[in-house]
Amino acid sequence: MAKKQFKSESKRLLDLMINSIYTNKDIFLREIISNASDAIDKLFYISLTDERVGMSREDFRIRIFADKDKRTITVSDNGVGMTAEDMEKNLGVIAHSGSLQFKQDNAEAAGNEIDIIGQFGVGFYSAFMVSDDVTVVSRAYGSDKGFCWHSTGADGYTVTECDKDAVGTDVVMHIKPDAEGEHYSDYLENWKLRELIKKYSDYVRWPIVMDVEETKPVEKTDESTGETKTEYVTETAEQTINTMVPIWQRSKSDVSEADCVAYYKEQFHDVTDPVAVVRVSAEGAVSYKAMLFIPETVPYDFYSREYEAGLRLYSNGVLIMDKCADLLPECFRFVRGVVDSPDLSLNISRELLQHDRQIKVIAANLEKKIRSELMKLLENSPEKYRAFFKNYGTQLKYGMVANFGMKKDMLRDLILFYSSMGSDAITLKEYAAAMPESQSVIYYAAAGSMSSAAALPQTEEVRSRGLHILYLTEPVDEFVIEILGEYDGKKFCNVASDDLGLETEEEKAETTQKEDENRPLLDFVKQTLGDRVVSVRLSHRLKSFPACLATEGEITLEMEKYFRTMPGAEDAPMAKRVLELNGEHRAFDALKKAYDSDRDRAAAIAKILYSQALLAAGLPLEDNAEYTELVCSML
Ligand code: ADP
Repeated sequence: MAKKQFKSESKRLLDLMINSIYTNKDIFLREIISNASDAIDKLFYISLTDERVGMSREDFRIRIFADKDKRTITVSDNGVGMTAEDMEKNLGVIAHSGSLQFKQDNAEAAGNEIDIIGQFGVGFYSAFMVSDDVTVVSRAYGSDKGFCWHSTGADGYTVTECDKDAVGTDVVMHIKPDAEGEHYSDYLENWKLRELIKKYSDYVRWPIVMDVEETKPVEKTDESTGETKTEYVTETAEQTINTMVPIWQRSKSDVSEADCVAYYKEQFHDVTDPVAVVRVSAEGAVSYKAMLFIPETVPYDFYSREYEAGLRLYSNGVLIMDKCADLLPECFRFVRGVVDSPDLSLNISRELLQHDRQIKVIAANLEKKIRSELMKLLENSPEKYRAFFKNYGTQLKYGMVANFGMKKDMLRDLILFYSSMGSDAITLKEYAAAMPESQSVIYYAAAGSMSSAAALPQTEEVRSRGLHILYLTEPVDEFVIEILGEYDGKKFCNVASDDLGLETEEEKAETTQKEDENRPLLDFVKQTLGDRVVSVRLSHRLKSFPACLATEGEITLEMEKYFRTMPGAEDAPMAKRVLELNGEHRAFDALKKAYDSDRDRAAAIAKILYSQALLAAGLPLEDNAEYTELVCSML
């Protein structure tokens, strides 16, 4: 029969497996066992509502068998099995797109090895690290036919019908010949298999059994003499190798932090340690155990639609759902882990689960736990927290503004902003603590980066008085400030548009007087600029800069910039711009002089000042050619 080709991505990945870029070949067994365990989970789950399965919990097992003569290892399960289509779909393609891209991106950067195995669901292919010929014989639940998938590597695979008397799957791996530095034959030894099962698959929920030879003493009586003597007989018996007690079920004193971390890395396919492990053991109205992990690294698809958040939900060690999203609030969707509650009904449907009171109680408790764990991390290991925040801060901030700020109070002390206080991001609490008593508002400036925020003309006045400013550098930041409204009774003040509240009544009166004196000039500038600005006024907030842009109304310049990046940008709301001129600046004197003697020149200066204000605000010029010409005309 003609060989089918692997999908090109898979083929390349397979090449990598065969040529073993990854030196820890031992993990192939873990990957194959984990697939077998998943398949049993699936059939067991079906059996809860479908009597035709005819199996009870005790009947399920994974059997491992090594045949030294044939040089094969067989991993058999009596799980849900695969149809011919399943084989095509699951064993011919990499389950998740993006995996190879990740590999390529990282292969160049890293001479070191990256555990991509399992990270993107390429587990099955790891069989090719140790074998040169893989056969999968399977019969799916509900089918009366067996199918055989066979491949010797990158050149393709075949799927044919074959005999298989019971539902389930056998994965038969023909072990490679020994090569220099690689003693593949070890994998055919029972001691080696046992060691690997203990090391990597001890917590698998289903029994992993092997035939083990045991030599036992047997008392024998000699019938003629009546004497008894001890004889040793060797028997082969099936033995369960794994302990099967899931790690989260074991007491805290029994399991080290390192064990939990190892479990996380293996189960959730992360190469980096989590920043925190949270263990919960609750008894009472709702009993449950939870083991949660707060990761430092971000999955490649985290900020995309494809990412599925949620915790693994078990009832007494049996998986009910792989990603139960209802257990986590949106703002903590990066948290991974396991929840196990004996109170849950096993055959609960997804729809019912959503309205389940117990799930709601657990979710509310977990939210509190996660928050307090993050607070603890922030206080005790600020460096670690910042590393976490760099990756997930945006998620927390979006969590604050979502649902009309429902979670804003819960999250407000967890978010960080850049500021004029130093290069590290700080909390609002830290900002508030550094405020002198006389300061009545929290100043902030929004721009695309910390340096451009610091360079905004409007920040000068505030800083010159020794006061600090929060630098909002992400589009979501301003929405966060808006939804908060205040922190600790202190209102927020945008240095670019709000009243800074720094002037005395006298100073204010002075500016108003000066503005009145210059009214015709200011009107002239407004007329020259037309609709580009809603008004022109003298500034209270400029020191060394000649002009800046302020705004009127809800929409600020940074929000406008953000809206422009979104689809339908043409119709996006615009900020109402106000041109503020520095009445103390030489440029203003020049403008005034020109206004009295040469109106064309005055109009040119007005346009230049407006353009400079645009540039200082990090906005594009409206007409580059005109600006260049205007500047040249002044030289
Ligand atoms: P992953 O397990 O991460 O999805 P794998 O490459 O290990 O990726 O497996 C691909 C798919 O093949 C599995 O998701 C499953 O659908 C199917 N599969 C693998 N092994 C078995 C098995 N023993 N029984 C049933 N299905 C299996």
